[in-house]
Amino acid sequence: YAKEMGGNQVQYFNSQIYAKIERRIKLEKHMRKALERNEFILMYQPQVDLLEKRIIGFESLIRWDSPELGRVSPLEFIPIAEETGLIFNIGKWVLQEACRQNKQWQELGFPKVTIAVNLSSKQFYDHSLKDQILNILKETGLEPHYLELEITESMTMDVQVALATLNSFRNMGLKIAMDDFGTGYSSLSYLKEFPIHNLKIDQSFVKDISINPTNAAIVNTIIALARNLKLVVIAEGVENENDLKLLQEFHCDMAQGYFFSPPVEASKVPDLFANSKTPLHE
Ligand code: C2E
Ligand code: MG
Ligand code: MG
Ligand code: MG
Repeated sequence: YAKEMGGNQVQYFNSQIYAKIERRIKLEKHMRKALERNEFILMYQPQVDLLEKRIIGFESLIRWDSPELGRVSPLEFIPIAEETGLIFNIGKWVLQEACRQNKQWQELGFPKVTIAVNLSSKQFYDHSLKDQILNILKETGLEPHYLELEITESMTMDVQVALATLNSFRNMGLKIAMDDFGTGYSSLSYLKEFPIHNLKIDQSFVKDISINPTNAAIVNTIIALARNLKLVVIAEGVENENDLKLLQEFHCDMAQGYFFSPPVEASKVPDLFANSKTPLHE
């Protein structure tokens, strides 16, 4: 009987592993054609200044609408894009599209905002990234301080290279944000040397701060750290008003999350601008 159970379990695990491999092969196969077939879209999530109570930026977040697989989350396909090297072309498309879109909003007369773009580790360590960005800014006509690059702590493991790259970005006039702060390898001693502008507190800490004293203590401490380092601090994943109120008590500069708006398609952004003229959530 026990042997029978074991046999079934082995079979179960085999089929689980097989399903994963199959999914992975499908994703990779269809991703190879996704760019030329225009299957990627960018969504935009507002970033709100808590003092002025208005939108001062948007984070661009990629989606893949595949005819074969449906909508695929970046959490699933970005790691595969990194492994296969497809991230270079996808990442370039994201930068082009985000800059083009931001410039278009400016030309339509909306308030000028920064557009934040998530970089992957491979992109960050790609020597041609700097020239690529310079070309995109030239082609789109977007001024560099309206583009913000989001990096994560894990990308700064090679401290010397990361410092050199970040310094060249700063010299180009770009903005730099440290994303998902607190979840990765943090070297606080280097944090003060990295020329970053914004610190984004990971949503896992921001979640439920009004009812979770541990999270509240962590968030309060990160805000104090950021302010002492003269960094603008953004809370990610703000989902309700009580959490927002506490963030304001902690003197958090900016917030982003479902409480304000989920990521939306570009066509919905004008409505967000219009609603944000009357201050958001007083
Ligand atoms: P991230 O950069 O930390 O982005 C924040 C994620 O939190 C987004 O998930 C966003 O939709 C979600 N979010 C926003 N507000 C809330 C909230 O109030 N509650 C909760 N629970 N979630 C919220 P998304 O769009 O699925 O992206 C996941 C991750 O995929 C991103 O995390 C980023 O690391 C990566 N990613 C997205 N777009 C790109 C891209 O263009 N390039 C690269 N390299 N990575 C990307
Ligand atoms: Mg991000
Ligand atoms: Mg994040
Ligand atoms: Mg994240």
